[in-house]
Amino acid sequence: MNPRKRRQRPVTVFDGRTHHVALCRGFRDGLPVFGWGEAPSTLLTATQLRQVGLRRNGQDPVALLVFRHHHPYRHETVAELFSVERAAPVRGTEGQRRAKVQGALRARRICAECRQDVGYYVPTSTGLCWNCEGIDLAEEVAA
Ligand SMILES: [Zn+2]
Repeated sequence: MNPRKRRQRPVTVFDGRTHHVALCRGFRDGLPVFGWGEAPSTLLTATQLRQVGLRRNGQDPVALLVFRHHHPYRHETVAELFSVERAAPVRGTEGQRRAKVQGALRARRICAECRQDVGYYVPTSTGLCWNCEGIDLAEEVAA
C-alpha cells in the first residue's frame, strides 16, 4: 500500500439507493471528502450530471470532491457531489434515464483483476475490488 492511500479511510456513502464503501480523505461540513477519481462512480458533480443529460433535481450534496488545478494561484477546488440516482433527466422519460445510467454504471462494478461483478463500484483510480487491493475492512467496521 503506497503512502497516499495510507492516509485514506473507509467510509460508507448512501447515494439514495445503494450504500457504497469508499476511501475518503476526511470530512468537511459533515460530508466525506474524496480526491479526483476516488469517489463512488454514482456520485457526480453538477457539471458531470449536465454532461450526461441529468440535473441535480433539488437534492443536497452527499460528498465533496477536492482537487488541485495546475494554476499556481488557485490551490484547491471543492465541488459538491450529487447522487446520479436522485438526479432527474433534462429530457426524455424516466425509463430512458434509468437505462442510460444503469448501462454506464454496470461496468464500474467489474474488478480489473479478478473480473468479478463485486456488487459495489470499484475505485476508478485502481479499478480493483477491496479483496484484490488487499484492504481488510473487517477491523474498520468491527464493533
Ligand atoms: Zn478483484
